[in-house]
Amino acid sequence: MAMEIAIGVASFQGDVEEHLAALREAVKKIGVRGTVSTTRLPEEIESVDAVVIPGGESTVIAKLSSYKKSLDVLKNRINEGLPVLGTCAGLIMLARRVYDRVVGETGQPVLGVLDILVERNTYGRQRDSFEAQIDIPALGLKSFRAVFIRAPAILETGPGVEVLASFADKPVAVRQGNILGTTFHPELSGSTVFHEELIRLATSYKSR
Ligand code: GLN
Repeated sequence: MAMEIAIGVASFQGDVEEHLAALREAVKKIGVRGTVSTTRLPEEIESVDAVVIPGGESTVIAKLSSYKKSLDVLKNRINEGLPVLGTCAGLIMLARRVYDRVVGETGQPVLGVLDILVERNTYGRQRDSFEAQIDIPALGLKSFRAVFIRAPAILETGPGVEVLASFADKPVAVRQGNILGTTFHPELSGSTVFHEELIRLATSYKSR
């Protein structure tokens, strides 16, 4: 029987439901045997083959100290190769350095596994939220509908980071080995390519 993969959505805070729905659709599309569920407790994080960290508010996620153990487990597992997709605040959680125009380096607790410098709330108030059609050559996509909601910007990328897509001269989708990150919300785009990509990474991770 084909192997079954377990995909978790880290449900500390943020738009969890949309990711669950996108993952379920992606599982069907690819035709793998997969379960999709929320993951919050350390033992739940220990048992998945891939994880999504949704958008929301990175400072809130980081401050939920009751989940400190969960975040430690998550960090260790990602460092050991667990495939992860971080979107918006989830990308901020993955970043090695977080910057804010008002306070400079925010010093907020993050997982620090993705070698980027990210700036929070780059697009300011008047463009709090917007959509843009972007090309994602690395995934063979043209005119992908990218939804930005109080989005961060990636200001610097380390040598191990591949830029998958850019918008307005800044990277908006990146990959570093098992780590995928977007400054926008792929779960709201009507396309499940990023979730499918995560599932593919999970399949090879599980059969390694
Ligand atoms: N502005 C939020 C933060 O800094 C991110 C917004 C989002 O995830 N949509 O954490």
